[in-house]
Amino acid sequence: MTDAEPIGRKCTQCGEWKDYKHFSWRSDRPNKRLTSRCHECRQKNHHENPETARIKANEYYHNNRDVCLERDKKRRWRNPARCLLLGARWRAKKYRLKFNLTEKDIVIPLFCPILGIPLRMGEGKCHSNSPTLDRIDSRKGYVRGNVIVISLKSKHHKKRCHS
Ligand SMILES: [Zn+2]
Repeated sequence: MTDAEPIGRKCTQCGEWKDYKHFSWRSDRPNKRLTSRCHECRQKNHHENPETARIKANEYYHNNRDVCLERDKKRRWRNPARCLLLGARWRAKKYRLKFNLTEKDIVIPLFCPILGIPLRMGEGKCHSNSPTLDRIDSRKGYVRGNVIVISLKSKHHKKRCHS
């Protein structure tokens, strides 16, 4: 191999030769292959045309439900704090609560501060040891200083006590 020989792949959008790491594997095809456009171009498209990107993402989800669910599960495993954050943001929107949390505000302890049971992510579904974000003062929203990570079991217990 000579130095002049390009290693990698040519992006069909910007036309640049880039290292393989600038492309991702398409897992939706039976014969796994690399995407034809580089990460940078794909990201650019996403920013310039969010509506198309959203439709495509939806379409992909419907055609590859199992792959997506598996991927989401892995993501949750990798970053449970983000997962809790997104859940809280969704609930805040739904119930019109205040929300100003960032990923840094969510600290997941090893053990539930209420019941002392170990906190761990559920494999695909929630169980009593799953970490969950709880509001200390339920009249306030998901705001900095008002949230604590407890086990789902504690949360259910708390709900029963209050109702
Ligand atoms: Zn490109």
